[in-house]
Amino acid sequence: MHATGLISQRRTVKADALVVFIPSTTKLFQSAIKALAADVPHIQPLIDSGDFTGKKGSTVLAYAGSALKAPRLILAGLGEIDEITVETVRRAAAAATKTAAAAGVKHCAYDVAAIKDMSIGDVAFAVTEGAMLSQYRYWKYKTTANNGNGMVTSFSIIGADRADQKAIKQAVETASTIVESVNIARDLANAPNNEIYPESLGKRATEIGRAAGFKTTVLDKKKIQALKMGGLLGVNKGSERPPVFIVMEHHGGKKGEKPIVIVGKGVTFDTGGISIKPAAGMSDMKGDMHGAATTIGTMHAVAKLGLKKNVIGLVPATDNMPSGSAIVPGDILTFMNGKTAEIDNTDAEGRLILADALVYADRYSPETVVDLATLTGAIIIALGNTTTGMMGTDKATMDRLRNAASRTSEYVCELPLYEEYEELIKSDYADIKNSGGRAAGSITAALFLKHFVSYPWVHLDIAGTALQPKPGPYVPKDGSGVGVRLLTDMIKNW
Ligand code: MN
Ligand code: ZN
Repeated sequence: MHATGLISQRRTVKADALVVFIPSTTKLFQSAIKALAADVPHIQPLIDSGDFTGKKGSTVLAYAGSALKAPRLILAGLGEIDEITVETVRRAAAAATKTAAAAGVKHCAYDVAAIKDMSIGDVAFAVTEGAMLSQYRYWKYKTTANNGNGMVTSFSIIGADRADQKAIKQAVETASTIVESVNIARDLANAPNNEIYPESLGKRATEIGRAAGFKTTVLDKKKIQALKMGGLLGVNKGSERPPVFIVMEHHGGKKGEKPIVIVGKGVTFDTGGISIKPAAGMSDMKGDMHGAATTIGTMHAVAKLGLKKNVIGLVPATDNMPSGSAIVPGDILTFMNGKTAEIDNTDAEGRLILADALVYADRYSPETVVDLATLTGAIIIALGNTTTGMMGTDKATMDRLRNAASRTSEYVCELPLYEEYEELIKSDYADIKNSGGRAAGSITAALFLKHFVSYPWVHLDIAGTALQPKPGPYVPKDGSGVGVRLLTDMIKNW
């Protein structure tokens, strides 16, 4: 999808559909409609019918006849003016774009004049995100799908003058790069295991790095053995496919400046191992590498936007398979730093591969480390599919993430890591065990990771937010791309 900002009037703008955003607040609604009716007189009966009142998220499609250059007119409700946020605009743009797509529209023009309490740059950013994110499809394997059919493929945002146009252009460019990065993460998460397995994930990261301008190094099994990554090798034991450890580097900051390290869980398929999962819904587990997908997508955004920060992305990747050579409950693994863990449940594998990655991260003397993982089913019980669980030791970075969450609406909520919970992962035979049972399952998973951390650290449990059971306003079903916008915003505003 490509986009432009242009100086135009809604009467003369060339597009398949003109989208006009309208608040519901009575006075503003009436004045907006009055102005619109001056251009498109036959809009009045539609308004008189009460079918469109500017309600948040509502849209209505009308035909403009010869009144406009654009044959279709879409009214998009914003709700009460006092309550309009960037998220309102994002969602309204998504709703309007979906309505347009359903009508076969290819090019939309957005008239944003009614959104007054926000800078034109912020408005254009939100419209771009909402419009573009809503048009994502995963149809790579549909041989009958006509690529681009039923989708809006380009758009423009109308500005009043040259200053507007400049601000729109800049916002659209940045937002488009971020959306592209989100969609990279969605594609990776949605790809089946016979396409994305450790080595092909490494290859994909390398290609994406080449295109975006970050450096990728893929460590193979031999190097992983030399590093004594016993967690990653342990989880990989049941697999035919070798593991990889992916290192991505963006040097945008000053030389010697401590980097931000992002670590993403890359379990390319999680059967549960010997502690095998039930058959129903197991195909979701092709997305158990969404943490990795988010890490790669974020590196793409950070590099392509040329952010002035040193950022490292680390991905331990393996699948988790049951076989005659797989680890079994009771086994004890020794990690890169020499610590040991007893395997209580082979389905608690994510923390085992992250442990080694977190130890590896220490060599960068990081300013902070943020890991992302589809780690626990327990986080879905606690926070549903709406909010990412946040835990860790780095209060300052958690504040930054909360701020980024308020701007991106990729919500985070902190859970406590009180030492009392440590009781639950005590082992009789090793330093710790890999599962603490059902109670506080997300917290004990994080506490397991904390044993491998020697720097400021935040853990994001995205098991609920990464794989969506149904589509949202601009987030598709399944691989959501969660975290790319959140982390990119945090790094952009560091
Ligand atoms: Mn698992
Ligand atoms: Zn898993």
